[in-house]
Amino acid sequence: MEYYSSHINKLIEQLSHLPGIGAKSAQRLAFHIMNMPKDQVEQLTSSITDARLNVQYCKCCYTLTDQELCPICANQKRDHSTIMVVENTRDLAAYEKTGKFDGVYHVLHGAISPMLGIGPDDIKLKELMKRLQGDVQEVIIATNSSLEGETTAMYISKLIKPTGIKVSRIASGVPVGGDLEYIDEVTLLRALEGRVEL
Ligand code: ZN
Repeated sequence: MEYYSSHINKLIEQLSHLPGIGAKSAQRLAFHIMNMPKDQVEQLTSSITDARLNVQYCKCCYTLTDQELCPICANQKRDHSTIMVVENTRDLAAYEKTGKFDGVYHVLHGAISPMLGIGPDDIKLKELMKRLQGDVQEVIIATNSSLEGETTAMYISKLIKPTGIKVSRIASGVPVGGDLEYIDEVTLLRALEGRVEL
C-alpha cells in the first residue's frame, strides 16, 4: 500500500468500507477513478452527495424518496388498504416493476436477525403497527425467504393477528435464500398471486 500516493490510499480505504467491496475491488475502483476524466469524477461525487443529502424516508411507508410523501403513497388511485411489507426500497422497486400490484408498501429497512443483533426495534416495525390503526384490510408480507426474512414474517404475523387484519405471506415461488430484487417479474407475480393467509 505504501507504494501508492497517500490520496489513493485514502480513496482505497474509503471504498473498501462499502458493502461487497473487498481490498482488491477497492484498489481496482480507485485506479479506475484515477483514469476517469475529471468532470466525470465530479459528476460521480456530486451525485453521491446530492442523493445522500436530498433523499429522505417517506413519512408514510418509509421508502427512500425526494418528497415528504413518496409518489406511491401520494397516489389516490392506489389501494391504501392493502399494504405489502418489504425489506428495502430495492424490493419495492422489484414489485413496482411488475406493474400488477396496486396496493401500497411498507419498507422495513432490514430484517430481524438475532445473529447480527438486529431486533424488532431496529427496523421500521413500530411504524407499520401505527399504520394499521387506519383502514387496512390486508398486510402482505413479502420479506425475503432467507432465515432473517422468515423470522421477520413470523414475528410480524404474530403481532398483527390479534388486530383481526388479514395477514398473508407471498408464496414460495421465491427460492429459499433468494433476494427479491434478483428475481424475475413472472416469479414475483406468481409469488404474490399464490400468497397464503397466515
Ligand atoms: Zn410512501
